[in-house]
Amino acid sequence: MHRFVMTIISLAIFLLPLQIGMAASEAAVGAPDAKPAVKAPNIKSNAAVQAKLDKNKNPQITALRWANHIDAVTGLSTLRLVFDVSGPVTVSSSVIGSPVPQLAVVVKGAVPGDVASTYEFDGRIAELLTVSAAGADTRLVMQLPLMLEDTDYKVFTLRNDPANKKPFRVVIDIGQKMPPIKFNFTAGLKDKTIVLDPGHGGSDPGAVGANKTMEKTITLAVAQRLKPMLEKAGAKVFLTRNDDRDVFGPNASAVDELSARTTVANNNKADIFVSIHINSFTNPIAGGIATYYYQKTPYDALLASSIQSTIAPASGLQNRGINAANFYVIKRSVMPAVLTELGFISNPEEEKLMNTADFQQKMAQSIYLGLDKFFTQAARLGGGQ
Ligand SMILES: [Zn+2]
Repeated sequence: MHRFVMTIISLAIFLLPLQIGMAASEAAVGAPDAKPAVKAPNIKSNAAVQAKLDKNKNPQITALRWANHIDAVTGLSTLRLVFDVSGPVTVSSSVIGSPVPQLAVVVKGAVPGDVASTYEFDGRIAELLTVSAAGADTRLVMQLPLMLEDTDYKVFTLRNDPANKKPFRVVIDIGQKMPPIKFNFTAGLKDKTIVLDPGHGGSDPGAVGANKTMEKTITLAVAQRLKPMLEKAGAKVFLTRNDDRDVFGPNASAVDELSARTTVANNNKADIFVSIHINSFTNPIAGGIATYYYQKTPYDALLASSIQSTIAPASGLQNRGINAANFYVIKRSVMPAVLTELGFISNPEEEKLMNTADFQQKMAQSIYLGLDKFFTQAARLGGGQ
């Protein structure tokens, strides 16, 4: 099941941090081309640090600004973040690959001042920035959609310039990565890399039925039946989780959890990403099968229709069709991706059905057939971007 989370892009971004609830499972984050937005900053922790350190007159990070620059020739964009600092500092940086790609920067000799502890971006170049005190220093961690090479970013300091009223500054430039995927699909499942994402898991049960069936159990069962079928056909298959656990960690935010799932697909250069879920609604009569896609490649809708055309008839349930949706995992995976909803757990008959080995096997088998159908059709279209 999925719930929407709205991203608010406020004109008052720099003046007034906004607190927005974040409780979604398949969170929809941002409009496709939204400017980097600030979301859910929490200044409490840093304000406390600031109060304590004000007396000591430590240099502080006093402001954060950012801008996107687009190269007219290559079309690639760069995200520049500028931190104002009230005194001279030095910086060091490192790239971390797990559980999601991150750029960590230590600003030595300044503590966080009146800046938020969390900034959320639109995900094209950066997902999230956290600002935290680390002794007398500040640690900045940027979560990224794709792993960075050394040449993809620069971190440096600028001296103050009193004549032009410019303070000391720390600058982070991050260039946009080219997606690692080249679409040139061939027919058949052999040698394809497919990431299966069983929805929810661990501390997050997903939707729960009247008879206590948990969505996380059914989604994992279907993925585990599907994996050997695809492998037998010669595909390489990764599951975002192989057992009942949180993908990122039990106390992770919704965004951390979801970006860890897309990272499995992005880092393994998957051809296709399939997220498996079960629907839920307040009215127990609602039922049926639906598939969602976000058309960020030429192939997302084709993948959705290929899979929906096999799973809906096999289920014997209502065919709710394919729908465009702004869900995090299908938007932030760089390859064609779908999110399937294999029935309604809130419908007692469907809840009973989805607990049967027969239904789980039918769903796995029909997703398999849908994937095979997709590659046949995509190859016929000629592949290529
Ligand atoms: Zn779900």
